[in-house]
Order: sequence, then structure tokens, then C-alpha cells
Amino acid sequence: MSFLLSCPFCGPRPVDEYAYFGEVTKRPGPSPTLRELTDYVYFRDNVAGVQREWWQHRSGCGEWFLAERDTRTNEVLEVILPEPGRNSPA
Ligand SMILES: [Zn+2]
Repeated sequence: MSFLLSCPFCGPRPVDEYAYFGEVTKRPGPSPTLRELTDYVYFRDNVAGVQREWWQHRSGCGEWFLAERDTRTNEVLEVILPEPGRNSPA
């Protein structure tokens, strides 16, 4: 299924130009338990609804950004630049 995704720098482009890097996750604290670390590394919420995701405009400007997308319809509700100091999912 194809849809348009709006890069914050380039504007609306076909989703084929982007790389998807999954839902935004919350990093565990500095001394995580094994359970917290396992959840962070291996498990995702995989919601049927609106979720915040990492995207990269790989075939365009190369920038990373966040998008709020309804996973049921692929409707993109908002495109957001990441917080300063966190400019990729890694
Ligand atoms: Zn772009």
C-alpha cells in the first residue's frame, strides 16, 4: 500500500522514498533489570491505532523525523522533528 508522507524539509513524497524504523520506544534507566532490558530490546506495542514512529527520508534529504500514523489507515496525523540530542532511533 502506498501513501504520501510529508518530510519536514522536503514536503509530501511517496512513502517509497522513506525508510521505516519502527515505533518510538522509551529507553530504560541507567541500571535496568533484565526484564526492562528484554522489553526494550525485543518487544513492541504494535498498536492498532495511532503510534509515534521513526522515519528517515532515505531517498531524499536523509533526515530523521517522527510521524504519528494511524496503523489501521496509514493516515499520517503529524510529522515532528526529534528532540535535540536524539536525532535517530539508535
Ligand atoms: Zn526530506
